[in-house]
Amino acid sequence: MKKVLSLVMGVAALAVASTASAGATKAYWATSGMFGPFAINGLIPTIPADEVRDVTIPVSMWIIEHDKGLVVFDTGNNIEVVNNCKGYWAAGLCDFLKPNQTADTTIDGWLKKLGYTTEDVKVVVTSHAHLDHAGNLKMFPNAIHAFQKAELYQGWWPEKFQGRDGTGPFVTADLEGTREYNFLELDGDYDLFGDGSMVILSTPGHTIGHQSMQVTLDSGKRMLIAQDAVWMQENLDGHAAGLNFSVQAYTNSVNRLKFMKDLQNIPLMMGHDENQWAAGGDRWYK
Ligand SMILES: [Zn+2]
Ligand SMILES: [Zn+2]
Repeated sequence: MKKVLSLVMGVAALAVASTASAGATKAYWATSGMFGPFAINGLIPTIPADEVRDVTIPVSMWIIEHDKGLVVFDTGNNIEVVNNCKGYWAAGLCDFLKPNQTADTTIDGWLKKLGYTTEDVKVVVTSHAHLDHAGNLKMFPNAIHAFQKAELYQGWWPEKFQGRDGTGPFVTADLEGTREYNFLELDGDYDLFGDGSMVILSTPGHTIGHQSMQVTLDSGKRMLIAQDAVWMQENLDGHAAGLNFSVQAYTNSVNRLKFMKDLQNIPLMMGHDENQWAAGGDRWYK
């Protein structure tokens, strides 16, 4: 009997251990400063004229602690934007977006605030190659970089209508110098640590290889981190975003995330929603 009991207890201990190690422990929602204020229809041209308002939006980045290593999901605006926006981005983008990033709100500033250095980061997941998401890859030369392979192609050679001449949201300088980095080149969904806790979701449309993430915390709570697959509530309400590589693929991706949100009854964290950030930004999710 004693032997059976200890066997049962051993199994119970194993079950507890596997539960405890099965998750991303916690996720912090940070922002690379704010953009704005500007009229919302500058981003979402489908907003009816009587609903146009000024918005000041976050530039979401996530720092996620996992048993197997620290993960950063997007690296925000390049650090040069703090003091030299027009020397690094096209002047028109600085004038329109009005970034207010400071040294404290670059990704390394947030990591420092949370007790980490950039060297502690094992994996950098980049949603897409736009200037407000892929700005600081070079702060992480020793990390594994998870990108959709198609997005790397587009980052290096953007569509002409998205400003290949340097006036658009792809800034080649963000990628220059990273060719020899350790890229995990993806083509679709990917279970990052193989335990279901951080599942990269292919959500193209905004760009050719945009990706989002489903995160399951150790508490069992789950969230979807959309980044630019869904900028803000107005997009969930049916107003298509501007700037898309493919409107059809964009719509499919919004629907994919919306169904996951609704069927699982879990929060969808959007990339640039001012109200959601005001209610839930700058804090840990556990
Ligand atoms: Zn974008
Ligand atoms: Zn963005």
